[in-house]
Amino acid sequence: MTIEVTRRRVLAGAAAFAAGALGMPRILHAETKLAEAFPPLPYADDALAPVISANTISFHYGRHHKSYYDNVLKMVEGTEFVGQTVEAIVRTTYGNPSRAALFNNAAQLWNHTFYWRSMRPNGGGKPTGALAARVDQDFQGYDNFRKQFAEAALTQFGSGWAWLVENKDKKLELVKTGNADTPMAQGIKCLLTIDVWEHAYYLDYQNRRADYVAGWLDKLVNWDFAAQSLGS
Ligand code: MN
Repeated sequence: MTIEVTRRRVLAGAAAFAAGALGMPRILHAETKLAEAFPPLPYADDALAPVISANTISFHYGRHHKSYYDNVLKMVEGTEFVGQTVEAIVRTTYGNPSRAALFNNAAQLWNHTFYWRSMRPNGGGKPTGALAARVDQDFQGYDNFRKQFAEAALTQFGSGWAWLVENKDKKLELVKTGNADTPMAQGIKCLLTIDVWEHAYYLDYQNRRADYVAGWLDKLVNWDFAAQSLGS
């Protein structure tokens, strides 16, 4: 584990140096080779039930997420993107209309891997330790954070995501993005995300997005992952 973390930091450091030379945003997270960009779920299919059923996971991970991965592999064949990390592909295609299809698939590939890690069985509730203090400071308390996070997830019109990020002023902030858009594309440090595309909850909740969001916050959110992301 320690060796793996060290290796990733070295890789991220080298990539950050290269990106800096090109005037691109500073890289804040580890870089992921495309061959490793569709990892196994960090828990069993049924581990998040009853908030998210095994049925939803099987379609969401096994069909939706996998198809984004398969699409990216096909799209990069024979292009300058071969050999680039998924993060580099997302950053370099961001805002480029001629690369919109590749951006959408690569960003969705990354967003979903981040989403699976933003949850855990027996998660949910309040953060602890240093992160609890940051939430208290930047949201005036957990209850206010919870209310604002739920509001962001509920008011994202149509498909998209709600995120907890550390912004460039080092403050925790809530962000919502549409479709495949991701704060990572702009070099913003993501801490947690919830998928609010209908495919994330429709089998279990139909139109009741609020119930999915409440279950996610109270029973699944993985604050340990957020703390790791904050420290990375
Ligand atoms: Mn999804």
